[in-house]
Amino acid sequence: MKPSSFLSLARFGLKTILFRKTDPILGTIIVTDRCNLKCRHCSVNNITSVLYPYAQIRDEMHKLYDMGVRILFFCGGETFLWRDGDRNLRDLVTEAKDMGFLIVNVVTNGTFPIDLPEADLILLSLDGARERHDLVRGPTFDVIMENVQNATADNICFYMAINRLNKDAVREVCILARETKNVRAVSFNFHTPYPDTRELALSKEEKKACCAVIADMMKEGAPVFNLKSAFPYLIENSFPTPCRQCVVMENGRLSVCGRCIDVPGLCAECGYFFVAEYTLLFRGKPKVVFEMLRTYLKYV
Ligand code: SF4
Ligand code: SF4
Repeated sequence: MKPSSFLSLARFGLKTILFRKTDPILGTIIVTDRCNLKCRHCSVNNITSVLYPYAQIRDEMHKLYDMGVRILFFCGGETFLWRDGDRNLRDLVTEAKDMGFLIVNVVTNGTFPIDLPEADLILLSLDGARERHDLVRGPTFDVIMENVQNATADNICFYMAINRLNKDAVREVCILARETKNVRAVSFNFHTPYPDTRELALSKEEKKACCAVIADMMKEGAPVFNLKSAFPYLIENSFPTPCRQCVVMENGRLSVCGRCIDVPGLCAECGYFFVAEYTLLFRGKPKVVFEMLRTYLKYV
């Protein structure tokens, strides 16, 4: 991250903490819900299957920028499926950078060739080594690892959603993150139990066991892009929700925090690590603030 970007984000954080502000800093644009996969834990793929038009996405980018958002995520469905005429995902990332967003990240399932050096981070879903990953996501592990090896930059961060099916694969994903070319880090979430996937939710004891493994792997030098200081809150689901500093745009509609905001009762069972990390950060929890500074400077 450029020093000027770091200072700008630090200034925002300080103002938010001191004056208890709720202005957004992190925005997500859903470019499509079309996806080539049908993962076991997913509730959001192919509901409309529309690739949203470029003009609409550009308009959403401007709206978010004008609201003060400076960290932008492009998310799907599968983002690499998006195109409009000659334009593709890479054009969106370049345009977001030119517009002035300080950090531009992309979320992908990794099944398409990865040529996106302009992105700060590419969050690539990996739910285990071959056996467990394929159990959750279909037979995709080999093609994903090939795409990772052949990527044109080292800006990849594995992104693992931990659920009942893959809870024992945390260690193996940490090792893959440490040893795979082009991978900078791994970031975790617990499964957030939408009504149609409740059976995949982890118990408190299972979350505790997973956090213990992640903490051990951090000690062993695994590049984990999460905050250990947030683990107790994630285990207990005791962090504040929703995250007021995060917004999502999907097809012209703006939501606070996540597109899941309207699912009754879901926030009380939220498994998204970023929600815990950001809400605790902006409440000024000293350990979280310190760890966030250290982690962002290391991986972004
Ligand atoms: S790749 Fe992502 S959007 Fe597609 S089915 Fe899997 S979790 Fe859902
Ligand atoms: S806090 Fe609620 S809206 Fe935010 S990500 Fe979690 S479940 Fe979704």
